Amino acid sequence: MAKPVLLTVDDDAEVLRAVERDLRRRYAERFRVLRADSGAAALQALQGLKRRGASVGLLLADQRMPQMTGVEFLGQAMGIFPDAKRILLTAYADTDAAIRAINDARIHHYLLKPWDPPEEHLYPVLDDLLEDWMASFRPPFEGVRVLGTRWSPHSYAIRDFLARNQAPYQWIDVETAEQIAEVRRLVEAVGAEASSLPMVLFPDGSSLAAPSTAQLAEKLGLSVRPQMAFYDLVIVGGGPAGLAAAVYGASEGLRTVLIEMEAPGGQAGMSSRIENYLGFPSGLSGGDLARRGVAQARRFGVEILAPQQVTTVRVEGPSRIVKLAAGSDIGCKVLLIATGVSYRKLNVLGAERLQGRGVYYGSAMTEAMSSKDEDVYIVGGANSAGQAAMYFSKYARRVVMLARGESLSASMSQYLIDQIKRTSNIQVETRAQVVEVHGDFRLEAISIHCGDSNETERVPANSLFVFIGAEPNTDWLAGVVERDERGFILTGADLLRDGKRPQGWPLARDPYWTETSVPGIFAAGDVRHGSVKRVASGVGEGSIAVQFIHQYLSAV
Ligand SMILES: Cc1cc2nc3c(=O)[nH]c(=O)nc-3n(C[C@H](O)[C@H](O)[C@H](O)COP(=O)(O)OP(=O)(O)OC[C@H]3O[C@@H](n4cnc5c(N)ncnc54)[C@H](O)[C@@H]3O)c2cc1C
Repeated sequence: MAKPVLLTVDDDAEVLRAVERDLRRRYAERFRVLRADSGAAALQALQGLKRRGASVGLLLADQRMPQMTGVEFLGQAMGIFPDAKRILLTAYADTDAAIRAINDARIHHYLLKPWDPPEEHLYPVLDDLLEDWMASFRPPFEGVRVLGTRWSPHSYAIRDFLARNQAPYQWIDVETAEQIAEVRRLVEAVGAEASSLPMVLFPDGSSLAAPSTAQLAEKLGLSVRPQMAFYDLVIVGGGPAGLAAAVYGASEGLRTVLIEMEAPGGQAGMSSRIENYLGFPSGLSGGDLARRGVAQARRFGVEILAPQQVTTVRVEGPSRIVKLAAGSDIGCKVLLIATGVSYRKLNVLGAERLQGRGVYYGSAMTEAMSSKDEDVYIVGGANSAGQAAMYFSKYARRVVMLARGESLSASMSQYLIDQIKRTSNIQVETRAQVVEVHGDFRLEAISIHCGDSNETERVPANSLFVFIGAEPNTDWLAGVVERDERGFILTGADLLRDGKRPQGWPLARDPYWTETSVPGIFAAGDVRHGSVKRVASGVGEGSIAVQFIHQYLSAV
């Protein structure tokens, strides 16, 4: 934890040095002692400290300074750090002014110059005031802070990006500035305006106004550029399948790079609780699984580029070459596609316009705290919707699940159905469909069609979380590898038609189980035609793919 600050202000260089020396001698172990040679410089320093999220325990200012007196400075400083103890340093002749200032500028104490010996005239007073200050001191949050508004899609994207990349952050809703003085002071100190939101503040005092995720990634030190031009194995997609393949590939000696366009963890990283993954009897969150997977992959030397998107693939002789959204190419001997699936969009009036403004895809766990004591609507009847309902039930007043089917049992695991039944604030509506979402700037209401009554009801709503299935985004592979009519990648025996190998297949063997219609390009996990859409099967496919990759490499 960074030490709280003691700031002393005096235009007389000699006195300033003497105060600083005495403060350091007694308090340097517990406090950071700073000095300024004018009220204006001191106020500037305080604004900088506010931006950094630092805390200030004590301000010690000389009364007689040109431009700004000590009392004036302390009065203004109170607006930035109201809890800091304020002490005025005066000459004997100014005693009356100092006493008046105790009332006017709410000064906690005044000290007469000279204060020698400090053990008698300085430390007892400061010890007492600092003890008092420490008693109510709460260490400030020291990580990244995000200032924004709840209904802004950009603010949501930034928070989601930080959460999914395991970067702890504090969310500060600027709309609370009127009620919360500390938020108001911070907004003033950083000069946040509508055009600069969302604003991301870093512990080093720097900030980014309305950044893109790429700018944020760069600032956070996430790696987006490859270290080499050619690898043994390039993996596209950092979900369970990609991470598992990376761990096995690198641990078995392949120079491996994994490229992920959002955050490692994939869909699993968005899961609030995975309860059916072997080895974790009380379940684990997707974030936890992703963090462990990334750590394990890095330990074996996997290079992870994220966020970075692969946009095209081409084949040049024995090399497979991917193009990154950033523009550069990476070549490899073997390419593994583990790009999973992404959420299908709710195709109703208003949904596109209100995305990120109350309509969310996936668990959007970052929204849970904001939904406290509100009603939350969840669309979908499969496991992902059930998990989200359980998660939000801990925060929301009521969670309403809207499922199209007759019951949940056809689409959801029994353990989740049982948990939902036992949770009193979850209400399940079957044969229910959202037909329209309403709101100008943010979601305000949804229209639900009830299949039983054949009536449509409009209900007020702040948040709607959508889980209505997913589809592979594989258009970028069109013309390269064979896909089924829904875009899932065909591999192994699925490529054989009447026992014949795919067109253009050059080898005297059939494609391996996870191999695509192009030798040396493999696919694993949810993106593969016929795959079982589960974390464990993704991990299994990623690991098995590496075995076939070795067999392929041994023959080229
Ligand atoms: C909310 C939720 C809860 C779930 N709960 C469970 C559960 O409890 N148990 C269970 O077994 N399964 C669960 N699942 C399913 C499970 O998460 C998936 O089956 C699994 O994540 C699939 O892994 P994958 O690696 O194949 O793909 P994904 O997890 O989809 O990962 C693919 C990754 O590829 C990236 N990508 C895509 N295109 C590109 C590109 N062009 N360039 C770079 N990167 C790209 C994506 O950003 C993504 O991170 C859940 C799914 C969801 C959404």
